[in-house]
Amino acid sequence: MARNTGPLCKQCRREGMKLYLKGERCFSEKCPFDKRPFAPGQHGHEKKKLTQYGLQLRSKQTMRRIYGVLEKQFKIYYERAAKQSGDTRENLVCQVERRLDNVVYRLGFAINRRVSRQLVLHGHILVNGKKVDIPSYQVRPGDVISIKESSRSIEPIKQAIELNKGRAISPWLEADFDQYRGVYVRNPQLEEVVDLPVNVQAIVEFYSR
Ligand code: SF4
Repeated sequence: MARNTGPLCKQCRREGMKLYLKGERCFSEKCPFDKRPFAPGQHGHEKKKLTQYGLQLRSKQTMRRIYGVLEKQFKIYYERAAKQSGDTRENLVCQVERRLDNVVYRLGFAINRRVSRQLVLHGHILVNGKKVDIPSYQVRPGDVISIKESSRSIEPIKQAIELNKGRAISPWLEADFDQYRGVYVRNPQLEEVVDLPVNVQAIVEFYSR
């Protein structure tokens, strides 16, 4: 299964912003972006004015990186979103938000989306009581996501629950840490996804060129 294995912090430096891909480290003084807030490479210090195309491209790359989705899959999400009725921007955000690895992360059972992906791949996650080991699996409203009983004491899950207990979660989700389960109640609205520092309209324009 194809995946992006590149260094996460370089991705933040490439996009010129903190993408919070590593969890707690992103909020600590160890964050490399705080020390080197410029693009990696020999010419990383140079400030270039982006064209409209450049802005659209960077928006698309940023969103892909945040959700850990490869180009081919992301394009498929866009094409599905464009075919659906309603606002293409909201449809696109819904497609990535409904990924199982993202939902597990948002529920607070993983410290970042990369760990969440691993948890899904290694069979620790159940959807409606059945094991699902496909990170891109599209969760539907009403689906119950839970941690397999024998996996509840593994370190990444214990660590995430300890960290996230008591924290507010996204309004379209419900989490019950005591029961190791959560519910994807409904699809999010665009304005509710407040931690997405991306111009989604620019991504729509990028693909409709
Ligand atoms: Fe980005 Fe987090 Fe790395 Fe900082 S620590 S550069 S926010 S991934």
